[in-house]
Amino acid sequence: MISNAKRGLALALSLVLAFVMVLPMLSRPLYVPASAATTEELKQKIANLDEQIAASEEKIAENNKNKKEAQSSADSIQSEVDALQTQISAYNSKIDALNEQISSLNDDINSTQKDISETEKKLAKQKESIGDTQKLLGERLSAMYKTGNVTNLEILLEADSFASFLNRLELITRISKHDSDIIATLQEQSAELQSTKDTLESQQSSLQASKQEIQSAKSEQQDAKSQIVSKKSTLDTKVNTLNGYIEELDADSAELESYVAAARAQQQAYMNSINAQLAVTASTGTGTYVTPEGGNGTFVWPVPSSHNVSSGYGYRSGVGVSNFHYGIDITGAHGAEIVAAAAGTVSISANPCPHDYPKNYNCGCSGGYGNYVVIDHGNGLLTYYAHMASTACGVGQYVAQGQVIGYLGCSGYSTGNHCHFEVRVNSSGDRSLTARNPYNYF
Ligand SMILES: [Zn+2]
Ligand SMILES: [Zn+2]
Repeated sequence: MISNAKRGLALALSLVLAFVMVLPMLSRPLYVPASAATTEELKQKIANLDEQIAASEEKIAENNKNKKEAQSSADSIQSEVDALQTQISAYNSKIDALNEQISSLNDDINSTQKDISETEKKLAKQKESIGDTQKLLGERLSAMYKTGNVTNLEILLEADSFASFLNRLELITRISKHDSDIIATLQEQSAELQSTKDTLESQQSSLQASKQEIQSAKSEQQDAKSQIVSKKSTLDTKVNTLNGYIEELDADSAELESYVAAARAQQQAYMNSINAQLAVTASTGTGTYVTPEGGNGTFVWPVPSSHNVSSGYGYRSGVGVSNFHYGIDITGAHGAEIVAAAAGTVSISANPCPHDYPKNYNCGCSGGYGNYVVIDHGNGLLTYYAHMASTACGVGQYVAQGQVIGYLGCSGYSTGNHCHFEVRVNSSGDRSLTARNPYNYF
């Protein structure tokens, strides 16, 4: 089923490409397949996107760096702001305490004022009483004198007898004394009230003085506070500016990230379409058991003990990069036998790599192939077997199909034990032109 679908797709593609590719074909060497130009175009698009993704990621990294700097400035200014806020709070509580004192003084002043008013009222009443009493006395005396409209002396002289004179005199004197006593008492009380009032007024002015003092202390604190407030407001503005800048950077990065995501999706679409043209599915992960179908039957499987393919021929995407995988990766046990896919002459048998262990970097040996073998099968057909623990054949040696030529390992640019099996036609040159899908040969 799968192979029928693949053939159907390949047929459909070749029909389409037959028209599309006529012009490019004229300017290319004959061995380039009909689909190469479209593949080339797609590869170019993928490479362009790689560049744009790299540029975007560089910008994102720059944004992150700027953001970090801005954040650290904002944080340090914010801690100054916090310190100022602590000072402001301290001033506020001082001012609150002073306000409380002022309010309590105001209460005292009001109550003293009330006392003064009451005292004044009492004083006024006393004065009125004194006036009334004096008036009454005057009226009484005048009533006594008025009877004969005479003077004091005349009253005395007009007395019928000395006894009567004495009686009258005594009466007058007693009345007069009584009223004078009343007046004296009233005046004494008045004086006391006046003295109370004076005391209250002096208390009042000392309260007012205290209030003045506290108010001036309060305005000192308020001045000091407003200086700190204005300092803080300047710093607040700076923090806001930095936060705005950080937001802009975040927005820019978010935009770039969504662009990168879209670009990667686009790349994946291009890769899928190239892989569809190649009629292969690049597998990833630890390995997928593969039974090659649809090939021409020329080759036997190069790792008899394992059919696990961790990565197929074609486009694959890695961390931030897309690349074309020019062979298939067959995972297996370290030291597993690797055999010649077909009979031929060993043209390369290299054992330069001592780095036969899992690693996450390219030791660079043999350009990443590590220890590897190349067999020339004639008619320009070459097979490559890379990342061996060691080779088991010599250059110029003729090997039969299925003959052991080396052992599976992890040398060169390899993170885990596997055999990278690659097929090239016509030349060992530029892989992008000479590599072929190995599945076409099994
Ligand atoms: Zn090495
Ligand atoms: Zn590989």
